[in-house]
Amino acid sequence: MENVAIFDAPGKGRGLKATKELWAGDVIFSEASVSAVAFDSISERICHSCFRKQDTLQRCGQCKFAYYCDRTCQRAGWAEHKQECAAIKAYGKKPNENVRLVARIMWRLDKEGSVLSDMQLISLEELEDHIHDMQEDDLKELKADINYFLDYWPRSSKQHTIDDISHYFGVVNCNGFSLSDQKGLQAVGVGLFPNLCLVNHDCWPNCTVILNHGKIELRSLGKIEEGEELTVSYVDFLNLSEERRRLLKSQYFFDCTCEHCNNRTKDDLKMAGKEVDGVKPTEEQVKEATDYCYQMLEKIDKARLSGNYHEVVKFCEECVKTTEPILADTHIYQLRLWSTLSEVQAYLQYFVEAAEYSRKMVEGYLKIYHPNNAALGMAAMRAGVTHWQAGEIEVGHGMVCKAYAILMVTHGPTHPITKDLEAMRMQTEMELRMFQQNEYVYHMEVLTLGSGRIFFEYAAPALWESIFQLRS
Ligand SMILES: [Zn+2]
Ligand SMILES: [Zn+2]
Ligand SMILES: [Zn+2]
Repeated sequence: MENVAIFDAPGKGRGLKATKELWAGDVIFSEASVSAVAFDSISERICHSCFRKQDTLQRCGQCKFAYYCDRTCQRAGWAEHKQECAAIKAYGKKPNENVRLVARIMWRLDKEGSVLSDMQLISLEELEDHIHDMQEDDLKELKADINYFLDYWPRSSKQHTIDDISHYFGVVNCNGFSLSDQKGLQAVGVGLFPNLCLVNHDCWPNCTVILNHGKIELRSLGKIEEGEELTVSYVDFLNLSEERRRLLKSQYFFDCTCEHCNNRTKDDLKMAGKEVDGVKPTEEQVKEATDYCYQMLEKIDKARLSGNYHEVVKFCEECVKTTEPILADTHIYQLRLWSTLSEVQAYLQYFVEAAEYSRKMVEGYLKIYHPNNAALGMAAMRAGVTHWQAGEIEVGHGMVCKAYAILMVTHGPTHPITKDLEAMRMQTEMELRMFQQNEYVYHMEVLTLGSGRIFFEYAAPALWESIFQLRS
């Protein structure tokens, strides 16, 4: 590992630091998982080897549980699935994702030892499990999983102590990394990446992690000095500092003491009232609008989950009417509202409205997020596609370019989404030129006839579904 070294991070225990100067978009390291499994909820819709979402998959004839794209994927996944396959067959049902992941890790460990390559900086035994920090409820779940594991684990496999088994459940619980589908848009499984476990958290991190062609990449978000600690964020910065601290404590067992938490940086923006001509709403008005928005968001999420998209739009518009005059464009509930509204409107093909709200969302995000935040990049992509579809080619092209610049850093040029964006950027640039030369021709040819919009078909079914994740 030429770019990083383990060190004692002050107040945090082990950490990773840069051993040389790094720049935005540098891949600091890439790493394959020790093991990874599909989530229970989606295990019949993704390939258990390459984690692609597919409409038609082939089922393993032995266990009737694992699914694959084709023979090639099945063969590639067989070394990992072989013992699992026999165990599921003998057990008669599929265990939950945690049990499956721990069992796969332990079979691999029994076969290859706890350091799987000379790139691995830490052995699996040395990884943190935080069992001693767990609260009663979590411990109850852990015990249930261990009992489940003991029923499932074959007698013919090597037997382990309860302490060893608990260690791996603990490791998976606090270090498991969510895997996404081929477009990087939907979480479909969970895996263990030992080197990544060494990267500590900061709410305003200098690195990001992305899954690209089956491996994770740790990528630099900006210039990093030699000797500087490398950090990623485990939580969304769109939460208030108090909420981030609560989430980090309950899931990762530490109190965040990062600069942004200590100074409550941007908390004021995230709960701010809207200033019009130098006049601000009163604290009471802001609080009232905040509470109302929060309640409406609960209703909206419920309607969305049950697929009542017209109801979602109705609730959102009702809420926007009350909150937009009072809440700032950086207020996090206002942003959530715009995000949901633009997403659903785009899905229902109300592109003009969707474009407006997606633009407001991006403008708010720009004031809150790190300039190279991946969520900001994805939001700009959504806004770009929606404006393009709405016929607003100038803003659309600008947003696509913005998204492309961010994703070149956070995802890199070989990631499938970046490639899609690159193609969109070329297409929107061409259309923009046509628009600037002759608006009439642009409207006739591009908007009315749809000619030349090679991405029209492509953007519609493939991107809408994946970007907006509505029908998954
Ligand atoms: Zn596959
Ligand atoms: Zn099988
Ligand atoms: Zn923090």
